[in-house]
Amino acid sequence: SSMASQIVDLAPVTFNPEELLRETLEKAGPGAEAKDIALTPRVAKDIVPVVGDRELLGQALYNLVGNAVKFSPAGRTVRVGLELADGGQKVLASISDEGPGIPEEEQAYVFNKYYRGARTKRSTDGIGLGLSIAKTIVEAHGGNIWLSSLPGKGCTFYFTIPVDGARA
Ligand code: ADP
Repeated sequence: SSMASQIVDLAPVTFNPEELLRETLEKAGPGAEAKDIALTPRVAKDIVPVVGDRELLGQALYNLVGNAVKFSPAGRTVRVGLELADGGQKVLASISDEGPGIPEEEQAYVFNKYYRGARTKRSTDGIGLGLSIAKTIVEAHGGNIWLSSLPGKGCTFYFTIPVDGARA
């Protein structure tokens, strides 16, 4: 909750985002396996090192992958991608699931602190901080976070991090 209060001290290092993605998927692996959910990474060949707070960015990624697993019905696939964007100035991460999606009228609120969707809050655990924390971390790096969803067909969360994110 201290992170959700918007004060973030970055401890930047240079790291390989593909390695961070693989570690994050390992961490999410047991939860996914328990629901028979496949975690499928797709990393562009031209991905480059990033300067940023590796631990915090791993937390942001984990929150999004964890949500994708949590909200998906058993047996579905969660796809996680990394690619370059903006002419190579940014790394774009995408996390797609085949769960219930997010109704259009809720999409504006899901990044708010303590917000929990009306339709999902009875069937899942949580306190509504995961997305607000991810947003705080991404924005502290000068990046953006957003989502697209067709309700009933799942959703995709995206975030960008400038390749030199800690200097943004
Ligand atoms: P929590 O997961 O603790 O409820 P979050 O901040 O992580 O809190 O998410 C806020 C809300 O956004 C969730 O309660 C849910 O309604 C919606 N949400 C987030 N991720 C997904 C997803 N992958 N699929 C469907 N709904 C989601």
